Amino acid sequence: MKKRSVLLAFFLLLILFLSLFALPQPGPNNFKVYISADIEGIGGVVSRMQTSWEGEEYQRFRRFMTQEVNAAIEGALDAGATEVVVSDSHGSGQNILIEELNKEVKLIRDWPRPLIMMEGIDETFDAVFFIGYHAREGSRDATLAHTMSGSRIFDIKLNGISVPEAGFNAAIAGHFGVPVALISGDQTIVAQAKELLGDVEGVVVKEGIGTIAKTIHPEKAQKLIKEGAIRALKRLKDFQPFKLQTPVTMEITFKDEVYASLVGMLPGVKQLDGRTISFTGEDMVEVSKFLSAILFL
Ligand SMILES: [Zn+2]
Repeated sequence: MKKRSVLLAFFLLLILFLSLFALPQPGPNNFKVYISADIEGIGGVVSRMQTSWEGEEYQRFRRFMTQEVNAAIEGALDAGATEVVVSDSHGSGQNILIEELNKEVKLIRDWPRPLIMMEGIDETFDAVFFIGYHAREGSRDATLAHTMSGSRIFDIKLNGISVPEAGFNAAIAGHFGVPVALISGDQTIVAQAKELLGDVEGVVVKEGIGTIAKTIHPEKAQKLIKEGAIRALKRLKDFQPFKLQTPVTMEITFKDEVYASLVGMLPGVKQLDGRTISFTGEDMVEVSKFLSAILFL
């Protein structure tokens, strides 16, 4: 009898142990994911032939953009996301083929928007993905590098640090307490994002060599992005929101002196040199609205 009760106690303890540690735990999941998508960092994209409305290859490559976004959505849904919002953040803001986009998501289109490439983000989201992103203007070994406006802007600094679009947008997400979990593009933007944001998941879909690229196949890029999205949400605890100290000071170096002198006339704006102005906003939302007005005027 005694031996039997010891055995019984042993099995009860074993079951308790298994239920605590070994059996699958009911996950928190129900993630809400925000995806901001650009086109320059999509696999295969190397020039305006693929990125602009007039480009001969644009119609094909907006489909590849849609497919990379779909891959990120599928990964997010597989990893437990229940809500996904996508921002079409390139050119006209109307590149993604809506009829080919995953049916479970909502899509933000067109401009202008106060939060520019991050319109619709708020504190209810758990993670941000950047798909098809590119390095900041002036980067070496980077495909189609620019910062917000290839025609007008040379550099944007936030609180003294030069940022790519991924940095500016991460700071908007950070304002709402949401971390960046995944970025895809060439090796240079992935490195710039990691330098600024820490060890986020990075998916390299092409290697920038000077201003050209050595790229992988679109389907391979999509597979890597889906896997990256799953990995990113599995290690969500590793990522911190990119929160800037407030107030936030933004310096913009324009390509043309005329812009700097015009923007420098606005109240509250300081002109620092022939091409650079400085604006201090109470937070990233105010800074983003200021930049949006400059970009879309
Ligand atoms: Zn861009």
